[in-house]
Amino acid sequence: MILLDRITKSYDKKTKPAISRISLHVEPREFVILVGASGAGKSTLLKMLTREEKPDSGKIIVGGIDYDDLRDKQIPYLRQKLGVAFQDFKLLPTRTVFENVAFALEIVGMPNREIRNTVPKVIELVGLKGKEKNFPGELSGGERQRVAIARAVARQPKILMADEPTANLDPKTSWEIIRLLEKINSYGTTVLLATHSAEIVNKLKRRVILLEHGKITSDQAEGGYKQ
Ligand code: ADP
Repeated sequence: MILLDRITKSYDKKTKPAISRISLHVEPREFVILVGASGAGKSTLLKMLTREEKPDSGKIIVGGIDYDDLRDKQIPYLRQKLGVAFQDFKLLPTRTVFENVAFALEIVGMPNREIRNTVPKVIELVGLKGKEKNFPGELSGGERQRVAIARAVARQPKILMADEPTANLDPKTSWEIIRLLEKINSYGTTVLLATHSAEIVNKLKRRVILLEHGKITSDQAEGGYKQ
């Protein structure tokens, strides 16, 4: 599903690479946690998967798409295969919950009738039934993250990437968000979760990939993490 072969990425030639010769293989339906201190390279790795950043060298293949062969006009198609939820949610503040989720479908050209049919199902999946007409400013942090996840999964991506989705949330709410990611994973979506929370990693007992200074220093099934 995801194949990285000796990926290196530097933002600045004078400093050490943000990512240094990383190789990684993620199977369909896996739930993988990327851990590491701030600055270890987690976001850079995710950004290379969404093609916001290009590696300096190495190969990336996601869902059968070889990024070396990727043309600019294919990038929207690639991003349809990938759902992304960020720690700061990136919601549209002047649109309701329903409209925020619908927007993700409008931009890929889904017909209105289908959008009206799909959005309520996705809102129900993430546990936000009854909040359709609320604006992001009227929601709690956990609810906003649920909207961000709803938007990410609305297009039924093969892979969901969540970059520090619990960073701004209290422990109980964080845990609810993690449970939601597990539910989405159980329906068949590959999940890539970037976090620096040892508590979440140690409770989840999933595959854990540790990044340190841009390198993978450990990759373990049911791994743990000490901060
Ligand atoms: P993490 O997500 O693990 O906190 P990042 O991928 O954000 O790590 O950062 C890895 C390294 O790359 C850090 O040294 C960071 O300062 C640097 N970096 C990240 N984004 C940029 C950027 N846009 N320009 C320059 N340096 C960056």
